[in-house]
Amino acid sequence: MTAPVTWTSEDTEEVDCCLCGVRGRPVHDLAPFAVVRCPRCGLVFVSPRLRPEALQRLYDDVGYFEGGVYGGAVEGGAAQEPRRLDPAMLLQRTWTAGRLALLDRVRGRGPGGRLLEVGAGYGLFLDAARRAGWEASGVELSRTGARHAREVLGLDVFCGQLADAPLRPGFDVVCAWDTVEHVPDPLEFWRTARSLVADDGVVLFSTPYVSSLPARLLGTRWWTLKPAEHIWHFTPRTHAVLLARAGLALTRVVHSPLAAANAGRLDSLVGVARPVPR
Ligand SMILES: [Zn+2]
Repeated sequence: MTAPVTWTSEDTEEVDCCLCGVRGRPVHDLAPFAVVRCPRCGLVFVSPRLRPEALQRLYDDVGYFEGGVYGGAVEGGAAQEPRRLDPAMLLQRTWTAGRLALLDRVRGRGPGGRLLEVGAGYGLFLDAARRAGWEASGVELSRTGARHAREVLGLDVFCGQLADAPLRPGFDVVCAWDTVEHVPDPLEFWRTARSLVADDGVVLFSTPYVSSLPARLLGTRWWTLKPAEHIWHFTPRTHAVLLARAGLALTRVVHSPLAAANAGRLDSLVGVARPVPR
């Protein structure tokens, strides 16, 4: 973010584990926030965390994506083409190509069908998916991001929370890149995704993981901790439990920073999940 915001305890609220409904035990004190771990299931999350109104303010900030991986796409305003040599943009393109290729591999066939991206940002992945042959739709909470995706790229992107989006179920693919760690209730998030994906469809996502080497070695200095935005911290195990509760089976995890879908990411993974037959 460009302009650092100072949050106080008035902007925060305490929450329980989304799986067990119990208070967490302290891991890191990052006042006015804290990172806690559920004593029952081990899920790590932020509590106190920002209230919903404060979160919406954060994502509406036009500076939210600037300076991050989307910086090159929006610099100089919406009309400017992404700068092709920007290192962050190159990484972004590598992930996009790698994730589209992974999608074809796990499905055992090429592009074609309906794809939904939740947390579409400025629409860069959706734009690439559409060019690859997908009928692409998206949902994005940030008004700045959703406006860019719609007006500049001409994409079908709903601005708001996933649960409020008027979507027709039966998607062949639902994907969520670096999104689930931001949502108020990840169980509700995956249940909604399950209701939208076809029984023979596939769910792909990426997220940081708190059992990664950087997270374990760096403690409060872990660069991905960001307690205002990253309010849930999964491990492959807690994520598998969470997905199972939502009717999805975690079938594949890509950790390697050498895999194109996860290029250069030492503390994040790409997961593949499939609907459990109802
Ligand atoms: Zn729990």
